[in-house]
Amino acid sequence: MAALGLAVVIAACVPPWQDDTEDSTTSNSVAPATTTAPAAAADTAGEATAGADGVGDSYFPDLGNGGYDVTHYNLSLRYDPADPDLTGQAVIEAEATADLDQLNLDLDGLTVTAVTVDGSPAVFSRRDKELVIVPAQPLDQDQTFTVAVDYEGTPVTSDGAASPYTPGWFRTEDGAVYVMAEPDGARTWFPANDHPLDKATFTIRVAVPDGLEVASNGRLESDPDDPSQIDADGYRTWQWEMDEPMTTYLATVAIGDYRIERTVTEGGIVIRNFFPPDSYDLAVSDFAPTADMLDYFTEIFGPYPFDEYGVVTVPEFIGGALETQTMSVFGMEAIDGQGSIESIVAHELAHQWFGNSVSPADWRDIWLNEGFATYAEWLWAAHRHPDRGDADALAQSTINELGEFLGPIGDPGADNLFGLEVYFRGALTLHSLRAELGDDDFFELLRTWAQDNRYGNGTTADFVATAEDVSGRDLENLFEEWLNKPTFPES
Ligand SMILES: [Zn+2]
Repeated sequence: MAALGLAVVIAACVPPWQDDTEDSTTSNSVAPATTTAPAAAADTAGEATAGADGVGDSYFPDLGNGGYDVTHYNLSLRYDPADPDLTGQAVIEAEATADLDQLNLDLDGLTVTAVTVDGSPAVFSRRDKELVIVPAQPLDQDQTFTVAVDYEGTPVTSDGAASPYTPGWFRTEDGAVYVMAEPDGARTWFPANDHPLDKATFTIRVAVPDGLEVASNGRLESDPDDPSQIDADGYRTWQWEMDEPMTTYLATVAIGDYRIERTVTEGGIVIRNFFPPDSYDLAVSDFAPTADMLDYFTEIFGPYPFDEYGVVTVPEFIGGALETQTMSVFGMEAIDGQGSIESIVAHELAHQWFGNSVSPADWRDIWLNEGFATYAEWLWAAHRHPDRGDADALAQSTINELGEFLGPIGDPGADNLFGLEVYFRGALTLHSLRAELGDDDFFELLRTWAQDNRYGNGTTADFVATAEDVSGRDLENLFEEWLNKPTFPES
């Protein structure tokens, strides 16, 4: 994520779902869909247990769920801009990692109308932001299974417990839609194992009145000109396929009136951008450096992790952009045709390596996303505009302007994931590491980090170990000073 005006300090919010194990009686609760008694399922389960309702994240212990791994989400949505409601079905393919007589999905708001497991109706209930499912037949460890969840309603954005933002599904005044879900907003528009540790491939199908466009992740499988994709009610289905593993917060959908720009980089990566017709030319101009950035970042970070890239610009989203996988979301407000957002264009693209392909294993390690993407801005600026100063100069001006405000980043706090220091002290940590290692080892480290953890997760401890492996140096003091020392490092 890149944000404009990050200096705004937002008060902490207490996650309301913590320590709440009572069944909710809100209007979102749904009576069991069948008369199958949970106890009966449990009786036949032997050693089967309920999957955990969280993966134990340092900041958001209830995010994600235990007992299974999702391999694929197949989401089918239907949406009309004239109506805030959506209807959806999520077909989730997963593998049990334990014997299970019950499992949870994360879901915030919306109304569930039916749940099946392997085609059989399952008992389900809502408990705060959890959807609790009791399969008719217990699941054995290592068993693959399919959960289908039918749901409907008006998506709400999350309560923003983690950041100044309220992540989730946004509907603009004219009915256009976009999704910006970091860190916990995916569950506002589909039931999910909503933590970066459980990556999966995605199929995203969205039916909208013909004439609107739908941007999403991966490659566009459907032909937007094929008349056979329009149903009897005049809805066209757009189908996107995300073939590489993706964390839930990076899934996105944007629905609106768009004109599509398609180009191919010298390195052969397809770029397809979704811009509103009335600002198309300005946006084309502002995003024109993307192809050169892709080639440059491929050179210094290693192969681009995905087949395609692109951006979608949206009419709201005050204050920034989000690196949604292969389809970054940008607010229109900063697009002026003058290149004012060039650094943010570089930032979101760099996240495709650092944050998206390599994701944090724990939200506490968010600097592995934001510090890297911010440093990539400096690398691009020094490469493209050497007359404006090299990375040393950019680092020094950052220290001069912000140094006194930049506290340690090893444990920034759940309410400060996107704090100024996560970005800038994070970037300065990498710059300091580069000075220590020299360019050869430093860029070898970045490529090794991207390659070794491709489509997976990494922790700060993993990165430190990789840096020591690549360089053959003891870097404990350097990282301790930059990540954990309360005061700003001397040099
Ligand atoms: Zn970012």
